Amino acid sequence: MNTIDWKNLPFGYFKTDYNLRSYYKDGKWSELEVSTSEYINLHMAATGLHYGQEAFEGLKAFMGIDGKIRVFRMDENGIRMQNSAKGVMMEEVPLDLFREAVIKGVTLNKKYVPPYGTGASLYIRPILFGSGAEVGVKPAKEYLFCVFVGPVGPYFKEGFNPCKMQIVRDYDRAAPLGTGNIKVGGNYAASLRAIMRAHDEGFASALFLDAIEKKYIDEAGPANFFGIKGNSYITPKSDSILPSITNKSLCILAEEMGMTIERRHIPVEELAEFDEVGACGTAAVISPVCKIVDRDSGKEYTYCKNGKAGTVSTKLYEKLKGIQEGTEPDTHGWTYIIE
Ligand SMILES: *Cc1c(COP(=O)(O)O)cnc(C)c1O
Repeated sequence: MNTIDWKNLPFGYFKTDYNLRSYYKDGKWSELEVSTSEYINLHMAATGLHYGQEAFEGLKAFMGIDGKIRVFRMDENGIRMQNSAKGVMMEEVPLDLFREAVIKGVTLNKKYVPPYGTGASLYIRPILFGSGAEVGVKPAKEYLFCVFVGPVGPYFKEGFNPCKMQIVRDYDRAAPLGTGNIKVGGNYAASLRAIMRAHDEGFASALFLDAIEKKYIDEAGPANFFGIKGNSYITPKSDSILPSITNKSLCILAEEMGMTIERRHIPVEELAEFDEVGACGTAAVISPVCKIVDRDSGKEYTYCKNGKAGTVSTKLYEKLKGIQEGTEPDTHGWTYIIE
């Protein structure tokens, strides 16, 4: 255990001691089962494997400055997973069961919560999928809900350092009336070609545009997009983006700082008018974007010209991080303290 290099953890899978499972069968969820196995014994005809009946969540627990472990906004994740379940016709996980699994996952693996000040945290990954066997296209009758956890470092290699993004037009991650607004694995599969190519071409991620007109900013790879212009926090209004809990939280904090929140279409050309641009999500909180390159036209938009994140992004980041780590008061009841 002493050998974990907390400061250099990647954002990746890390084996911990226990995971939790509950099985939906004959119309009810089983008691939570504590498992030490990293494997799931699965029917080969499970709908999660064939027809994409699968959803996941991502949330984090933090070691606070006071030595208390805080889980950030877990009910929001629980509710979002219920929406995802509805979206691909899976059985919903009751909120109490979701909470219990998250709390147990953290409690049983307490020793893997990275110490305060390392920048690392304990990532919590709930998954839900159709485990019942079907061959015809229909929802499964059985489901598996599983939660595993592991310590992670920052998501983007650059951490809170600015990164580069690439606008793509030859791939979409989601359609307006499709599944972009729920957290299902299929959206990620659909985004892989654009994201991996962006990596190969030297970018942290791909910036997707609206699928119909290719005129508006949609999703920043696996994160939401926001721009700062003067005193406004501007983020896309779109049916194909995932409602990020981080974004929602940043909007509230920005409003409290006296900023105006604008949720609306963001035309690509408006990128030239932003003072700051960022991608936000649980994994990185905020990834400041220093450069956006339009892959087709070669047009470049640059931000944070001194090589550092902008002042507003930095302030928002510090504030949110502070609430998560107990250095700022949690006036909204966003954290759950693990006893
Ligand atoms: C999970 C996710 C986000 C970030 O949501 P958070 O609740 O802030 O973690 C953004 N975009 C996509 C596509 C996602 O899957």
